[in-house]
Amino acid sequence: MSKRRIPIVPVSAAIAEAAGQPSLTPHPADGGAAPARRSAPAAPGGIEPLSPATAPGALLDRLGRPLRDLRISVTDRCNFRCTYCMPREQFGPDHEFMPHSELLSFEEISRVAALFVKLGVRSIRLTGGEPLLRRGVEKLVEMLAALRTPEGEPVEIAMTTNGSVLARKAAALKAAGLARVTVSLDALDDAVFRAMNDADWPVADVLAGIDAAAAAGLGPVKINMVVKRGTNDDQIVPMARHFRGSGHTLRFIEFMDVGATNGWRMDHVVPSTEVIRRIDAVFPLEPIGRDDPAAPAENWRYRDGAGEVGVISSVTRAFCADCTRARLATDGRVFHCLFASDGHDLRWPLRNGADDDQLTGMIAGAWWARADRYSQLRGEGGTRDGRVEMSFIGG
Ligand code: SF4
Repeated sequence: MSKRRIPIVPVSAAIAEAAGQPSLTPHPADGGAAPARRSAPAAPGGIEPLSPATAPGALLDRLGRPLRDLRISVTDRCNFRCTYCMPREQFGPDHEFMPHSELLSFEEISRVAALFVKLGVRSIRLTGGEPLLRRGVEKLVEMLAALRTPEGEPVEIAMTTNGSVLARKAAALKAAGLARVTVSLDALDDAVFRAMNDADWPVADVLAGIDAAAAAGLGPVKINMVVKRGTNDDQIVPMARHFRGSGHTLRFIEFMDVGATNGWRMDHVVPSTEVIRRIDAVFPLEPIGRDDPAAPAENWRYRDGAGEVGVISSVTRAFCADCTRARLATDGRVFHCLFASDGHDLRWPLRNGADDDQLTGMIAGAWWARADRYSQLRGEGGTRDGRVEMSFIGG
């Protein structure tokens, strides 16, 4: 019987550590000065918030990376059981998902998101689990779309979804203020797709969702394909062929060792160089680089003008040096890396009277203390156990 619950931890040890230990690596944004300054009163429960070390918009972590992107997991549930994310052996019928009362409410999410925006976030992506399974998620989109940066600009609100119910939701999401959607799709062949999602879900529903998203104005739609050798790598060229000329951008993601349950092995990884070589042999490509330095995908253009594909080389070519993403998990913990093993709890202070200054100080202090670079370390031969599951913090 599998009953896996993520324990709620007290507020980050890293924050307290950063506050109390001047021996930490001098912060680049602080000119090497003593790390943190306390100014806000202690939050309930002995939480020691920090003041942002820099002006809003210039907050940097210990590796000099700004805070720019926030991924919010709105549910730990999913109707798929993709073997690399929520394998059925671990997430079977008796798996205990979080009770609704433990999820952050839309009001709590919006409040935290507003503070992240104040600190530099310019792009918010809703994830899960499957975000469209959270009832009324359109309302949350609407609340987030109303956020404004300190300069008065709107924040881009995007969503990553498995697409299974997108056809029904696309128009309402657009009306609520969603800007773009990324759809996970690992195969075009129906049998391969049903096997990979392990829920017997037909590929036709996802393709209909992609069409509906494009028709609703949620494009250009990005399509993410996780490539696992021996499972769906024979789908690389058929997927490329299908989406060429569609206006959508297909991106190939190297199979990663996310969480602790997906049985990752290096020989399951199809390196991005091989993906590009296989497509190029049929549809010639040329490199065009990244959309921006912090974007995970490197883009390639079809030489005949039929659009672009992207590759996300999380394993073979780590891009941690430019990683500007924070993740707000379903239970209100903040993680600073997809491969993190521990987060900084914001739900407790949120529900116990912390004011915005205190919460801002906690978020800023935690980012200030961030040194995560898991993929880079993996590439150098180091790994670590205890990673939180991707369905909990979003992909
Ligand atoms: S491994 Fe962590 S730090 Fe590196 S790019 Fe991925 S999420 Fe960012």
